[in-house]
Amino acid sequence: MKKLSLLGSTGSIGTQALDVVRGLSRGGFPVQVEVLAARSNIRLLEEQIREFRPAAAVVYDPVAAQELRVRIRDLQVPVLEGIEGLCEAAAWDTADMTLNAVVGMVGLRPTLAAIRAKKTVALANKETLVAGGRIVMGEAEQNKVSILPVDSEHSAIFQCLQGCPEEKALKKLILTASGGPFWGWTKEELKNITPAQALKHPNWSMGAKITVDSATLMNKGLEVIEASWLFGVAPESIEVVVHRESIVHSLIEYRDHSVIAQLGLPDMRIPIQYALTFPQRLHSQVEELRLWEYGTLTFSEPDRETFRCLPLCIQAMERGGLVPAAVNGANEKAVELFLAGKIGFLDIPDLVQAAMEHQPDTDRMDLEAVLQADREARCFVEETA
Ligand code: NDP
Ligand code: MG
Repeated sequence: MKKLSLLGSTGSIGTQALDVVRGLSRGGFPVQVEVLAARSNIRLLEEQIREFRPAAAVVYDPVAAQELRVRIRDLQVPVLEGIEGLCEAAAWDTADMTLNAVVGMVGLRPTLAAIRAKKTVALANKETLVAGGRIVMGEAEQNKVSILPVDSEHSAIFQCLQGCPEEKALKKLILTASGGPFWGWTKEELKNITPAQALKHPNWSMGAKITVDSATLMNKGLEVIEASWLFGVAPESIEVVVHRESIVHSLIEYRDHSVIAQLGLPDMRIPIQYALTFPQRLHSQVEELRLWEYGTLTFSEPDRETFRCLPLCIQAMERGGLVPAAVNGANEKAVELFLAGKIGFLDIPDLVQAAMEHQPDTDRMDLEAVLQADREARCFVEETA
């Protein structure tokens, strides 16, 4: 039986992961949920605790944690809190896999805690790899721990790579991008975008932060960095192609120019399930892909002039060091300000770029330095905006 610690259980990925767990358990692949963790949504967390009966729960926010303790006193499920609670959940003794589906940099320490406790990590929390890729991958190698991608593009590449004969046979990775809700718009038209408009994604239903990232194409930039760390591929060997239908989730090209792709409906339960059951493939609740209903699949070049966050991320990766951490932190803050109505849509790339230029080059690369670069970038954006 698989034993799972689920961080971010009340979010878009978290709730879909629990749906996968239900489906797998019905299909004879029982998954025991050992820990559930969230930030403050204790109403949903309580429902999940009553259904899945974990050994413990974590609520990041201490006030909400106390309220949950009162609400579930009949169950005798301990409720931990804060970053220590999250790290404890990530390294939970009886779990063998940790699915990290929290949003943002707060996921970095829990990911490291899971790796150090030698748990297999199913990773949705891409910010972790963008900011601390070198540390995370280094520790994973040291501890001989697998990091299984949950992000759909990375799961697609991971799936295509099963059967790759040798590392040097691989020529490049090709990430697909939906283009988001504003694909084809001009800068002039983007000026007055409201948060409500940015939160409507054409193909995927996701949390607020990643939905805005998809609209700015920052998400694809973060994903290029994520792919570079996960698969050990240099940035210049990673291509991005806009594919509006979100059916081809990504591709790999071999040196003989044969290209292998993974296709499916745009439903995160497919990559989540693959991470949970890897290397097995089991029956899915997601519908079959009926290609004839689509007729045509389209591909085009990204518009890097209008959607500057994508090239900014590539530049950040090329500069390396703490620059990706600064870019990620600046973006998290800028998205928060945009969603609060305090800055415009086009201020996001401006602030990310300014924070990137403000970040000095350095050789220092340890957890404290990454967390500090993140904090400073957030402050910089707050003061500059
Ligand atoms: P959501 O905003 O929907 O959910 C975030 C989850 O993280 C919630 O459970 C939230 O708890 C929890 N959380 C946030 N902050 C903390 C904290 N400080 N401590 C503990 N828990 C916390 O995000 P998504 O599910 O959309 O995204 C999660 C991650 O997966 C992101 O990194 C995203 O980039 C990545 N991803 C998401 C995809 C998607 O389809 N949604 C696709 C590919 C990647 P609470 O509800 O209490 O606030
Ligand atoms: Mg993705």
